[in-house]
Amino acid sequence: QASRLFHPENTVIKTAHSLIGAANMTIMAGPCSVESQEHIFKMAQVAKQGGATVLRGGAFKPRTSPYSFQGLGEAGLKYLRAAADENEMDVITEVMDDEHVPLVAKYTDIFQIGARNMQNFSLLKAVGQTKIPVALKRGMSATIDDLLNAAEYIAAGGNQQIMLIERGIRTFDNKYTRNTFDIGAVPVLQQLTHYPVIVDPSHAAGYWDLVTPLAVAGIAAGASGVIVEIHDDPAHAFSDGPQALKPAAYQVMAQHCQQVQQLV
Ligand code: PEP
Ligand code: MN
Repeated sequence: QASRLFHPENTVIKTAHSLIGAANMTIMAGPCSVESQEHIFKMAQVAKQGGATVLRGGAFKPRTSPYSFQGLGEAGLKYLRAAADENEMDVITEVMDDEHVPLVAKYTDIFQIGARNMQNFSLLKAVGQTKIPVALKRGMSATIDDLLNAAEYIAAGGNQQIMLIERGIRTFDNKYTRNTFDIGAVPVLQQLTHYPVIVDPSHAAGYWDLVTPLAVAGIAAGASGVIVEIHDDPAHAFSDGPQALKPAAYQVMAQHCQQVQQLV
């Protein structure tokens, strides 16, 4: 169950290379999409250099338009797994459909449930039947209670290894930021639930130069980690280029987060 009332101690999720929800901070980094074998290997090295222990990359992409790049599918999962193994990292990748759960399970250490699928109850039930940790993203119009109820669907199936991701919500103003980063959600979720809270400043910000301030704010608010998008050539990224941190900017973000983490 999600509520602290029934489970006062923090849940700590242990994977091969990460401890999520303990006193340390977890960095998850990688491109929005797995673009090629060569590219994900390059990005994995960059991610690792900044201290990331988890490599992200989408192989099944929930694109707003059906004509946009939809991901490499299983080939992308294979490249992502190999790049993570090469650098001794864990994999996080999105699963969009309950029918894909067994396939994605073969390659990933953490299932990502995207914002658009937060209330896809058949998908939540399917990952709830596995023993693989689940990172549940807050839907763009979801309240905190909606998010906790969605987590409950996973937990009800027996899988308690859940982390919650604040990735920005829709508000009336999306001219200068892609979404509105609900910073207050971080301490509120920690009061209400024992699951680790991770912040995604990339999808909250939408623009790379806003990512570091939001990441730092998330850590200052007590988040257990950050998940960020990086790219060596954002102008040619297959998806979400404008919000991708280039390698040097990513290293700065990671350093700033580590410094702030010492204070909280
Ligand atoms: C992503 O992580 O690339 C993604 C699509 O995120 P969200 O579901 O938060 O929009
Ligand atoms: Mn993205």
